[in-house]
Amino acid sequence: MKYVVVSGGVLSGLGKGVTASSIGVLLKSAGLRVTSLKIDPYLNSDAGTMSPFEHGEVFVLDDGGEVDLDLGNYERFLDINLGRDNNVTTGKIYSKVIEAERRGDYLGKTVQVIPHITGAVQDWLEEVAHRPADGSDEAPDACIIELGGTVGDIESAPYIEALRQFQFRVGRENITFVHVSLVPVMGPVGEQKTKPTQHTVKELRGLGITPDILVCRSSAPLNDETREKLAAFCHVSPAAVMSTHDVPNIYHVPLMLHEQGLCDILKVDCEVTDLLQRWRVMAHHLDTLSEEVHIAMVGKYTNLSDAYLSVIKSLQHAAMAVDRKLVIDWIEASHLESDWENVDERKQAWDSLKQAAGVLVPGGFGDRGVEGKILAAEYARTSSTPYLGICLGLQVATIEFCRNVLGFEDSNSTEFDENCKNPAVVFMPEISKTHLGGTMRLGSRPTIWQVEDCKIRTLYGEGESVDERHRHRYEVNPDMIESIESAGLVFVGKDETGQRCEIFELEGHPYYVGVQYHPEFKSRPGRPSPPFLGLLKAATGQL
Ligand code: GLN
Repeated sequence: MKYVVVSGGVLSGLGKGVTASSIGVLLKSAGLRVTSLKIDPYLNSDAGTMSPFEHGEVFVLDDGGEVDLDLGNYERFLDINLGRDNNVTTGKIYSKVIEAERRGDYLGKTVQVIPHITGAVQDWLEEVAHRPADGSDEAPDACIIELGGTVGDIESAPYIEALRQFQFRVGRENITFVHVSLVPVMGPVGEQKTKPTQHTVKELRGLGITPDILVCRSSAPLNDETREKLAAFCHVSPAAVMSTHDVPNIYHVPLMLHEQGLCDILKVDCEVTDLLQRWRVMAHHLDTLSEEVHIAMVGKYTNLSDAYLSVIKSLQHAAMAVDRKLVIDWIEASHLESDWENVDERKQAWDSLKQAAGVLVPGGFGDRGVEGKILAAEYARTSSTPYLGICLGLQVATIEFCRNVLGFEDSNSTEFDENCKNPAVVFMPEISKTHLGGTMRLGSRPTIWQVEDCKIRTLYGEGESVDERHRHRYEVNPDMIESIESAGLVFVGKDETGQRCEIFELEGHPYYVGVQYHPEFKSRPGRPSPPFLGLLKAATGQL
């Protein structure tokens, strides 16, 4: 097993995750089986309880793991399927050590950060790195380990120490340390400043880790002088100083690292497979798209694109497939509501909604903006505008249909109005066998087609069922299904018990589709998720 450890310095948000995934792409292009692990030094056990406001979206895995959004980058870049254990957190490590202590596993010893926590971290990394991730049952050849946070943080210190020890456990020749840093540009001539990087490398070396490769985030390519200086002060060879400068799209990142000789440093031939060539085509294709398609995203974290990262990626994958440049028009759901006091904001929200070629209502929790989302669904239904509702987006469209088509005026979800009459959506928990109190329906579950022929089934292609990932507690009220369907909103996909409605499609509408699951977690570049592809095709007249 070869390990590549990616740490970061100076500040967060330098694209450490993208750098790490891009290195993975290069190793994969060399014909290696690649997996990845992300270390998040926070105390939460997982990302499930964390607000998208603070941490971006919660990414959901096949096994129901609720993890950091970086795992989504790895799955998309490397086309692999990870499990919850691929996301290490301090919460998980400490729970494990404390449980072992209670069992008496430490035989009377004092249990300490070193060696017990650092040992548990290393055991975890080594074991999970060997788990197959690419759908085969073969163990990977290489593992990318990304250390979250910034070197120097108190909470990441035990991990740095664990990784320092790890180089002796696995052999120095089997581990490469990559440090991602920032090279800011100052002054009228645009001088590239190396001092922040010098400091962070000094700190890392002080903790016992010497980086083999420096990846420097900068606006323009590093000039030779900067490279030389960084090499001299940071104890790396000039050839191992990479620049990740601004590029028109993310698919350029592996290509630009390759062009700077990263594969030579890693001693791999990156043209063994045609993967890199496919990335070149993809990067170029995206650069050359000019005809726009506008999709309105009606949500509640619209000023925080990380909160909907996988949805955005899925829209991009689908837009590429229909040869359009994607423009997302963000609409704050509550601005659509009739009692929104700022008239300009309301007008603006409605104008954007009406100008869009397609409408998407993503998942969400809590009642803020729900009435606005219901209005967006109504608008899309009655104006024949293509609509995709995901999870809460399916639920609001069902409520809208019950209110305005079936005439149940006060219909709602019991999540928002516990005592409403004729609830369209009700609490249907799935009781977790492993987590006390766990009621969320989480992870991959099958959806069985209920009809032979419909748009969304055609988009998915062959097969009697589809597997997609879930994260919700509420569902369409089983008592309402018959009336809803008789009025034209058909539940074309259900779970294997026939109780849970997974997909609806509205008869006689160009594309009005709702899915209870989250298709955004399985979309891949070059293999867009079918519900998104349907939305983009319908929005561009290609369905
Ligand atoms: N709040 C809704 C539920 O729990 C929708 C969840 C979601 O959109 N992920 O069912």
